[in-house]
Amino acid sequence: MTIKRNQTRPVRIGSIIIGDNHPIAVQSMTATKTQDIDATVAQAEALRERGAGVVRIAVDSDKDAEALGEIRKQTTANLAVDLQENFRLAEKVAPFVDKIRYNPGHLYHHMRDTPWQDKVRFIIQQATDHDCAIRIGVNCGSVDPAKKEKYAKDDSVTPMIESALEHCELVDSLGFFRYVVSLKDSDPKQVVEVNKRFAQTRPEVPLHLGVTEAGMPPEGIIKTRIAFEQLIGKGIGDTVRVSLTLPNNRKPEEIDAGKSIIDDIHAGRVRSVVVFDDTKLNIISCPSCSRVENEAFIELAASVKEMTEYAKDYAITIAVMGCRVNGPGETDDADLGLWCGPAKVNLKRRTEPLGAFGYDEILPKLKEELDLLIANKSAT
Ligand code: SF4
Repeated sequence: MTIKRNQTRPVRIGSIIIGDNHPIAVQSMTATKTQDIDATVAQAEALRERGAGVVRIAVDSDKDAEALGEIRKQTTANLAVDLQENFRLAEKVAPFVDKIRYNPGHLYHHMRDTPWQDKVRFIIQQATDHDCAIRIGVNCGSVDPAKKEKYAKDDSVTPMIESALEHCELVDSLGFFRYVVSLKDSDPKQVVEVNKRFAQTRPEVPLHLGVTEAGMPPEGIIKTRIAFEQLIGKGIGDTVRVSLTLPNNRKPEEIDAGKSIIDDIHAGRVRSVVVFDDTKLNIISCPSCSRVENEAFIELAASVKEMTEYAKDYAITIAVMGCRVNGPGETDDADLGLWCGPAKVNLKRRTEPLGAFGYDEILPKLKEELDLLIANKSAT
């Protein structure tokens, strides 16, 4: 099947170019502790060898940034870092990476007195000085609060697009064009809509596609496939990540999944008849990364899936997140949310915290809450 791809501009990320009809690059992320240099280098290399065009490494502290310097020397993978809420980190990581991701929604928390425009200028200056590309990465779980307020509660797409467009305009005005945009959501239908609408307005900007917190295979792959078929099949998308909740040693499966979805789409083997059913139970879980503070998270995500099987015919969303950095915010939209700390798992009913429970106590507690939800649904 010949797909006419959107004519996006080329963006170089280390040794690869994305956009401008270059092959769609598949990305992934290490889940090792960044300061464990040997393990992180080994995982970055494993991902590169499997075909990762870019490998993201989590950096949260000065010590992580120092480790990154050493990792850079030991791998030829194209490396990326996500700044999370700390835009100043750009200065420390830019010398060692090929791409920096910033989330527009995060620029409103850290150092509130500094206008977001100045923070973007700072990041772009670092990227320019150190030959890095940029990803403006908008995520449904952390959109600029002012944008969210402007639109109806059930419209999560327009604030995301407005935020991305505003940042593109500013970055353009700085004369910096080596950037890509991502607009991620955990719901494949939203991912399709938000990316289609963005591509209509800014067709020349390369898009990085992904369904965030897609969960465990096979469901995580199915959700991602649904979104990618609708987008890549229509010429939208220049690089992808399949975010799967997997144990550390199986991370390269993200690359296999991405490559096989792209190959199938290009060969016309699309399965869009498989429509993700939002009248059923939906478990979303993060792909895990070095921020996971208790390895029991992966097992917990699997146990949640197994334990909740009895509720499969209810339209309920349960989110399981691996850390306290993104866990609290990204569980807000789920009916029941769990986010993992070092010794306890925090349970939420939408935005309402229900307490923190030991890893051996959380499943019965979750079941109690789930039964309550089902009882309420049955009564209405
Ligand atoms: Fe990493 Fe936390 Fe995101 Fe999971 S929720 S991928 S552990 S940052």
